Amino acid sequence: MQSLIIVSNRLPVTIDKTIKKSSGGMVSALEGLGDKFNIRWIGWAGGVVEDPEKKEEITTELKQKFNFSPIFLNEGDMEDYYTGFSNSSLWPLLHYMPSNVRYEEPWFRKYQKVNRMFAEKVLDQSDPDDIVWIHDYHLMLLPSILRKERPDMTIGFFLHTPFPSYEIFRCHPKRKELLEGLLGADLIGFHTFGYLRHFRSTVLRILGIESEFDHIPVENSRCFIDVFPIGINSKKFQEFLDTNAFTRRLKALRKVYSGKKIVLSVERLDYTKGIPRRLEAIDLFLEETGRNDVIFLFISIPSRQSVPEYRELRQEVEMKVSQINGKHSTIGQVPVHFFFRSVNFEELCALYALADAATVTPLIDGMNLVAKEYIFCQKEKSGALILSEFAGAAQELCQAYVVNPYYIRQISDTIKQALDADEEEKRRRLLPMKKRVKKHDARFWAESFLASLTPRCQKVPCPVQLPGLSPEAMTQIGHAQRRALFLDYDGTLAEFKRIPENAAPSGEVEKILFSLSRQNQFDVYITSGRKREEMDRWFSKFGLNLIAEQGFCYKEKNADDWVFITHEADLSWKDNLRDFLKLHTGMTPGSFLEEKTASFVWHYQNADPDFGIWKAHQLVSELQDMLSNLPVKIHHAKKNVVIASVHANKGAMVSHLMAMKNYDIALCIGDDDTDESMFLLSDPKTIGINVGVGKETGADFQYPSPKALLSFLEKLLEQTQT
Ligand code: UDP
Repeated sequence: MQSLIIVSNRLPVTIDKTIKKSSGGMVSALEGLGDKFNIRWIGWAGGVVEDPEKKEEITTELKQKFNFSPIFLNEGDMEDYYTGFSNSSLWPLLHYMPSNVRYEEPWFRKYQKVNRMFAEKVLDQSDPDDIVWIHDYHLMLLPSILRKERPDMTIGFFLHTPFPSYEIFRCHPKRKELLEGLLGADLIGFHTFGYLRHFRSTVLRILGIESEFDHIPVENSRCFIDVFPIGINSKKFQEFLDTNAFTRRLKALRKVYSGKKIVLSVERLDYTKGIPRRLEAIDLFLEETGRNDVIFLFISIPSRQSVPEYRELRQEVEMKVSQINGKHSTIGQVPVHFFFRSVNFEELCALYALADAATVTPLIDGMNLVAKEYIFCQKEKSGALILSEFAGAAQELCQAYVVNPYYIRQISDTIKQALDADEEEKRRRLLPMKKRVKKHDARFWAESFLASLTPRCQKVPCPVQLPGLSPEAMTQIGHAQRRALFLDYDGTLAEFKRIPENAAPSGEVEKILFSLSRQNQFDVYITSGRKREEMDRWFSKFGLNLIAEQGFCYKEKNADDWVFITHEADLSWKDNLRDFLKLHTGMTPGSFLEEKTASFVWHYQNADPDFGIWKAHQLVSELQDMLSNLPVKIHHAKKNVVIASVHANKGAMVSHLMAMKNYDIALCIGDDDTDESMFLLSDPKTIGINVGVGKETGADFQYPSPKALLSFLEKLLEQTQT
């Protein structure tokens, strides 16, 4: 059976005198998969255990009882990795609260250290074909650490929090490392499309990687992204709702709160949950309605009391509660019942079933399971769910009373509306939500994530739309007497660089250029859009033929001068266009303009990525109108727009040299729109090869990347050697 290794910060256990398994939604969702996978779980067992014997004992018991492997953290790890980096830095960042983000250098070092500890454990506990599923923000570096060690490992990552917009995420000092850490996964799952959308744009703006609709290309592989909203453990809830124990508890609670309307709040005491604003709304409600038959029940689960913001929040909330009660209590009626503790599962179900309304008004929340649990526990009556539009759950529970948690009056009015609504109205809202919560439960979530992840086990290679050079073409080349190789440079031989001057040949590229200059099977032409001076500077040492400025001129190896194939090119349009292009450049910060003899190139690779592409489309459209009757061609190439004389044409240059040199065969290799004129030549003696994937091309064959092309060229030289 396939092994599935779950990795999360905490193991779902509590260790006291005995070890007990806790029962969150994720545990039961995953337990349900036991018939499909052999499940192991790696995580921190909680607390600090120093004694080696005790560690041994816990490890053995966890292994034997549950197939869990513990990570042990010391005091320092706990402070820096958990309380510090995870809860005081990442948590507020991911929840759109940069002003709460704190950062200390040692925290990140510990975060790296603990992520590496997790990696070691995973590597130690797994075989190469196991599936690894990592959970949440505590382990954002883990996917890449594992990927480095085991390039073929199948790694999934699920983020249980929101992912904020780029403008927020960019505030973090370690934004780049965090993103790179995540991109080691084969699949990253989010609760909502909004979080996914933010992630894509953050990756684009911080790492400069453009994503496809369903994945982000990373070196030699792809990191898929998708949406999987988590659900509740509906089986467990249903089983308890069907018992007599539930009926008894509900009855007992009804007796206690007889004659009262109950409005329930259940949450960890966290600053993301919008508690102070909700209390203000309650104050307003009580003030305006004067009702003394409504009780607001708060179950506030103690959380992260070692983090100062949480301690301050507790004080603020308790103060507000006492102010409201001081102001609105009457004999026999205290409006806010505040419990700073958790309740057990049975009690929770009964409270959900009892409450006439639930107020779930977080300022931001990845999903919010309480909202779904409340819906599911409505049995005999239809309670009203008042739900923040900023909870992930609002994407699915659209029939709820949706509110803006910052708008106190709206919350107050909505509580009133929900309490006054008749049963039919509440039922109409409840039923479709109940159906959805039941069907899309935690098990559905886990199964759909794994169903998306497991096909990645087959490690589908990057899509190559066209095949590499065919054996027939190779034979045709082999039989030819006079062979030419027209080889584009940027994006074809050398990877595309943000600053064009940084793309000078080095390493592997230099090596192949020297090999090309030493062989005599092909006449080689470096066929570029670059200026003559630059080509002289970069390529003269290789002793190869050069074609510059998109085919406007060429220079044979060993020659001193450049040759222009046409002398009557009309270039007067350049003078009329220069100022317009300069203006456009000024209006697009980060872009720059290059002028060549017969062309302009407007580069936008360093502009804001979205703004750059938008301005490029605008430019192309305006130029098409302005230049429609002139001998000019416009190419929207990779991150640049080329406006060139029709005589600056790589295809025309290839035809000219073919005829002049009498070649029997010419391999034309390129990657962008300016190379298409070579691919579209109708001469049967030319063979077009495109480098790159995912774009329409007139080429006959294709290699996915410059790296793949370099290997092909090496093979080509070997095979044509006589
Ligand atoms: N819960 C709990 N103890 C309680 C009350 C509630 O463990 O006393 C559970 C509740 O059933 C829910 C979870 O805590 O499953 C809260 O999850 P949610 O997604 O609403 O918020 P989070 O705490 O993850 O931010």
